[in-house]
Amino acid sequence: MAKAKLSMRERYRLLTRDLDWTPTYVDPKDVYPHTRYEGIKIHDWDSWEDPFRLTIDSYCKYQAEKDKKLYAVIEGFAQGQGHLSLTDARYVNALKLFLQGVTPLEYAAHRHFGYLARHLDGPGARFAALCQSIDELRHTQTEIHTISQYNKYYGGLHNFGQMHDRVWYLSVPKSFFDDGITAGPFEFLTSISFSFEYLLTNLLFVPFMSGASFNGDLATMTFGFSAQSDESRHMTLGLEVLKFILEQDEGNVPIIQDWVDKWFWRGYRLLGLVAAMMDYMLPKKIMSWKEAFELYFEQQMLEGLFPDLEYYGIRPPRHVAQAIAEKDILSHQLYWTLYQFSHAAAFNTTVPEPAELDWMSSVYPDTFDRHYRPLWERARRLQEDGKRFFFQGLPMLCQVCQIPMTFTEPGDPTTINVRTSTFRDERFNFCSDGCKWIFDREPEKYVQSWLPVHQIYQGNCGGASIPDVLAWYGFQPGDGGEYLTSPDKVNWDKWHAPAVVAGGA
Ligand code: FE
Ligand code: ZN
Repeated sequence: MAKAKLSMRERYRLLTRDLDWTPTYVDPKDVYPHTRYEGIKIHDWDSWEDPFRLTIDSYCKYQAEKDKKLYAVIEGFAQGQGHLSLTDARYVNALKLFLQGVTPLEYAAHRHFGYLARHLDGPGARFAALCQSIDELRHTQTEIHTISQYNKYYGGLHNFGQMHDRVWYLSVPKSFFDDGITAGPFEFLTSISFSFEYLLTNLLFVPFMSGASFNGDLATMTFGFSAQSDESRHMTLGLEVLKFILEQDEGNVPIIQDWVDKWFWRGYRLLGLVAAMMDYMLPKKIMSWKEAFELYFEQQMLEGLFPDLEYYGIRPPRHVAQAIAEKDILSHQLYWTLYQFSHAAAFNTTVPEPAELDWMSSVYPDTFDRHYRPLWERARRLQEDGKRFFFQGLPMLCQVCQIPMTFTEPGDPTTINVRTSTFRDERFNFCSDGCKWIFDREPEKYVQSWLPVHQIYQGNCGGASIPDVLAWYGFQPGDGGEYLTSPDKVNWDKWHAPAVVAGGA
């Protein structure tokens, strides 16, 4: 006799929520002790609507298929020396930044969603967190396996775990995620699932993956496709979780608004590295940072999403006007800083080619020729005279985002912007009103920041000289500095030199 077929919905209920039970000899508050101290009130966990109805067996089947395809492509890429078909070895610097800066965050996300999968009170929410935790572990693995294809041939990729924990510019992404992980579970969901995965993730993933496809990196492009369906689940979760919390209690609204304000600015500051990557590190450009910001943030989020959130009492993030005002200057200020400090980085920088400068003039007509072209032309002249320079001091860092003081006053691209606060008789410095606002809300948290420059001065980073510090970072010679004289460039030219025909006529 044929068994009655269960509906998808019923099958899903039986395999997920129906496995949950209500404790009787322990107070549920003791089973889930972490979900009340932030002030968020959830009255009914059962009203959680799962954004995607996946059971473990179907989840594993989908993911295994995606993995199989990805590893087949990576295998073919390795066998066919696919790296030689890149536009230029300079492109690999974008991958170095990704592996050192982003991949360890995927792993941190895996760990923290694992924690949420244990500690959220509702079974639907726990199960969604469990799936995302497994996704993030898979992303970590697939990114490492994809990018490790390049480790045999290019510098800067051999030691990304240690680098992430120690290197000055990687303290920017690391401190961002550490901030999220050390917050309570609801703030973490607002920071990572909503503010990052929903509001800003397209500005991270699309540029990297289209950058890969434009620059001949089939391996990374395939990883991107493989992660994309996970990302869309994460985005859905981010929005659903926000609406769920907002609908539960009116008292939740101002708390969430504060977190959206804080995490928009933190995420936006982090994406400055993506801006520099898009405009300067890709030999073949996809679109400018400014265009990406307008499309993926201003149009899709500010005009698309926030009018809907108004219904819940949520307004656009505080300091959003500042981010919009910076879209013309952000990438230039950041890459100029990276250019001057790459002797202490595990990637190479160089002056953009004349055609690239022209491209920037056309996409940044209001600012590039006036403020940044003269800098690059001077740097090129110096370089041609054998005077490629690197900044020999250590910069002052923002106490919150940890980026060197490189940003300028709103509306005045020639004056560096420094804000300060005094807390317990000590002075703290910030790159912007946004970072100062974040500090002033929670000074007890941010006075503890591990600031790379302070740590070097205190003698905690291997020694007092630059070589001491670079050794402590785990760098090898040639990992950083000028691209044109780097081992990557020398090897690339050798591999692409016209073949010498042995014994020819
Ligand atoms: Fe991920
Ligand atoms: Zn800052």
